[in-house]
Amino acid sequence: MIEPPYPVLEELIGYVGEAGHRLAEIDASEGAAGNISVYLGWDINPASSFPHSEEIVLPTIVEELEGKSFIVTGSGRRLREIHQNPGANLGIVTINEGGRTGTLFTSSQRLFQRVTSEFNSHLAVHRDQIARSGTNFHALIHAQPLHLVYLSHIPRYQDTGYFSRHTLRWQPESIVNLPEGIAFLPFMLPGSDDLMAATVCAMRDHKIVVWAKHGVMARSGASVKKACDVIEYAETGARYEYLNLTNHGLAEGLEAAEIRMICAAFGIQQTIF
Ligand SMILES: [Zn+2]
Repeated sequence: MIEPPYPVLEELIGYVGEAGHRLAEIDASEGAAGNISVYLGWDINPASSFPHSEEIVLPTIVEELEGKSFIVTGSGRRLREIHQNPGANLGIVTINEGGRTGTLFTSSQRLFQRVTSEFNSHLAVHRDQIARSGTNFHALIHAQPLHLVYLSHIPRYQDTGYFSRHTLRWQPESIVNLPEGIAFLPFMLPGSDDLMAATVCAMRDHKIVVWAKHGVMARSGASVKKACDVIEYAETGARYEYLNLTNHGLAEGLEAAEIRMICAAFGIQQTIF
């Protein structure tokens, strides 16, 4: 939830650019991998920076979001380049009356045909989160962090409890930042209805979900950079775990009792350790 006065569109777009740049720095967005969308539950006027408009059919009917807007990355665009030229890489979608269609506002710099192909999953998760929390702001990032995805290929990590315990045991802050753990979903076809439905469900109890053998989706109701932080915390844990796998499992990691001690001291509710 964001309290008024609301940030202007240019400021929010700047944060999307910074998040995209950071995701590339941590090897979570090779080439054109990954996508970002941000829900804005207040009136905005995109026409000054994004003067071109066209009607698009929405992947889901979202009648309750009429008049609300999303900042969305363009299909095939590079997250790392957003900050250099937002107009080339981002569009603004405002939901039309009835929620079946939206108006896509774009800049003269536009370098994409359509919004991200993952917009169906994004819109479904946004919609569910907005309905459940009543938030007026919600950021979602899909990225492909190297170590998180690598672990998702190893059979014994293909379980929410195991994945969470083994990635959140390396730093005291990990459980503080991700007390819900990291949700694990088995491989599903990218962009499919199955993946969309499973992601909506997993995101109800988690800030981040691993899509096996593919990537992650992370959310924040506070800022797009916080959603990026969530990915960075999880990926750092996965990197430690990977280091340990390649070093014959020599390290102990924090013990469950040590992590419970941290949780008691900081008032963290968790069920993972
Ligand atoms: Zn992907």
